[in-house]
Amino acid sequence: MSYAEHVFRSDSPEATQKISEQLASAVKSMLPAGLVIYLEGDLGAGKTTFSRFFIQTLGHAGHVKSPTYTLVEPYELDEVSVYHFDLYRLADPEELEFMGIRDYFGEKNVCLIEWPQKGAEFLASADLVISINSHDDVRTLHIAAKSAAGDAVVCALSSP
Ligand code: ADP
Ligand code: MG
Repeated sequence: MSYAEHVFRSDSPEATQKISEQLASAVKSMLPAGLVIYLEGDLGAGKTTFSRFFIQTLGHAGHVKSPTYTLVEPYELDEVSVYHFDLYRLADPEELEFMGIRDYFGEKNVCLIEWPQKGAEFLASADLVISINSHDDVRTLHIAAKSAAGDAVVCALSSP
C-alpha cells in the first residue's frame, strides 16, 4: 500500500512558515486525531522552524523553544495536546522507556519528533515523515504519509 506524498520548495523561512501553516491547518481540520510526525534533516535544516509555526497554528500563542536540552516540550492546547521532541542529544534510546514515552503517543495527541532515528524502536511508527534537505537558503520539504491518517492529511494538502 502506498500513501500520498508531496514535495514543497522553500526559499526562505517565511516560505517554510506558509508550508507549515498549511500542514497544521490540514491537521486541525481532522482533530481530534492522534498523529506521529517524524522530522528528518541535518542540523540547521529547519525542523524546529517548521515545528514552531506548526505548533502556533494549532493554537499556541507563545514562544516555541527547541527541545534540544529537555528532549520534549509539551503544549496542552484547547483542541489538542502537542508534544515536540528533539532526540539529538539522547544518549541511549532506552531513556525513552524511562521517561514513559508510550504515554505521549495517545490517541488524541500530536507528536512532532526531530531526530527520530535516535529513538529507534521505542518510538511509535510515523503517520507522516517530513524530510528536509537544505542548500544555502533553499529547502526541499518532502512530506510522505505512512498511514491512512497521514494520507488524509497529505491529501488535504494537495487538493486546491
Ligand atoms: P533544525 O531544527 O533542523 O536544526 P532550525 O529550524 O533550528 O533547524 O534552524 C534552521 C535555520 O535555517 C534557521 O536559522 C532559519 O532561519 C534558517 N533558514 C534559512 N532558510 C530557511 C528556509 N527556507 N526554511 C527554514 N529555515 C531556513
Ligand atoms: Mg531543531
